[in-house]
Amino acid sequence: MSRTTVATIHLGALRHNLARIKAMAAPAKVMAVVKADAYGHGLERVARALDAEAECFAVAALGDGLRLRAAGHRQRIVVLSGPDQPGDIAEMQRLGLDAAIHHEAQLTWLAEASARRGRLRAWLKVDSGMHRLGFAPERVPEVHARLVAMPGVDPGIGLLTHFAESEVFDGEVTRAQIARFNEVIRGLDGPRSLSNSAAVLGWPEARADWVRTGGLLYGLSVVDGKSGADFGFRPAMTLSTRLIAINRIGKGERIGYNGTWICPEDMPVGVAAIGYGDGYPRSAASGTPVLVGDARVPLIGRVSMDLVTLDLRTAPQAKVGDRVTLWGEGLPAEAVAPHACTISYDLTCGMTRRVLFVEDEG
Ligand SMILES: *Cc1c(COP(=O)(O)O)cnc(C)c1O
Repeated sequence: MSRTTVATIHLGALRHNLARIKAMAAPAKVMAVVKADAYGHGLERVARALDAEAECFAVAALGDGLRLRAAGHRQRIVVLSGPDQPGDIAEMQRLGLDAAIHHEAQLTWLAEASARRGRLRAWLKVDSGMHRLGFAPERVPEVHARLVAMPGVDPGIGLLTHFAESEVFDGEVTRAQIARFNEVIRGLDGPRSLSNSAAVLGWPEARADWVRTGGLLYGLSVVDGKSGADFGFRPAMTLSTRLIAINRIGKGERIGYNGTWICPEDMPVGVAAIGYGDGYPRSAASGTPVLVGDARVPLIGRVSMDLVTLDLRTAPQAKVGDRVTLWGEGLPAEAVAPHACTISYDLTCGMTRRVLFVEDEG
């Protein structure tokens, strides 16, 4: 028996999810966000699966744009943090990448860009209240005018902003961000883009011309208490391993490192071959749900590097060799993440090189 833990990537789910996003967001167009190695699902794999249907990809940094072009993808690619150094500009022109422009330093580099290499498509990033990247609203008219006048920049400047808590449907923060953005860009034309995944679900008034969806593409949700499936999306990753031992442990005995869990009675304890060395979070607490076959059982004790321990009292039929699912089909990552004090995106992003990735068409 192989001890390898397996992340199965469901290509059909990726396609289903993109089609569903497109239908929800229409007439807005969709940037398929594939940053962070496609949220841990594999950049080239996901891009290949979506190539025929994706009009545009979005990545965090130039290196990912390079990987997509090297893999032969010809659609629009938006680099969401733009150039990180002056030399990036010529590279982006050569590769035909769109650049988000959020900082004065980038304007200085761009002003030097030659039109001979092709005009760079720029997205002016507006800080509408998140205070991470972007120009302050009062600077936007001046920055826009400077960009339009640059010989190396396409004059159809895009206008972009990002939400800090769009998963709070009907919340004041997002309402204020939308109002501020609309106010700032009044009179400027060019494509507008505000919405991430949660905003596509909860803020139809913010769809504008392009939405930028990552999480939903992978069937993941950050809406409190909801999984992607609750909105009609399918998980694109199932993380699984095998049960490698079942031991009867006596009442009062302590399980695992530091004995953080004490058996309330004589009971079967299962051991599954996965741990933080695979990217399963060490922070997952006793009580985190895990599937053994189709039975949902609680994790007990500390997650170790290679192993986790499970309370099998409610799965008496379990046997060594049974498939154990950590998240994915049958167990949404959203049901697991809060037990590790995180969100589902963080779980799928965390897989280590020890995990074997396989693909299925489902
Ligand atoms: C990551 C990111 C997105 C996508 O967010 P999701 O919640 O995964 O849809 C959109 N826009 C920007 C600027 C981002 O950094």
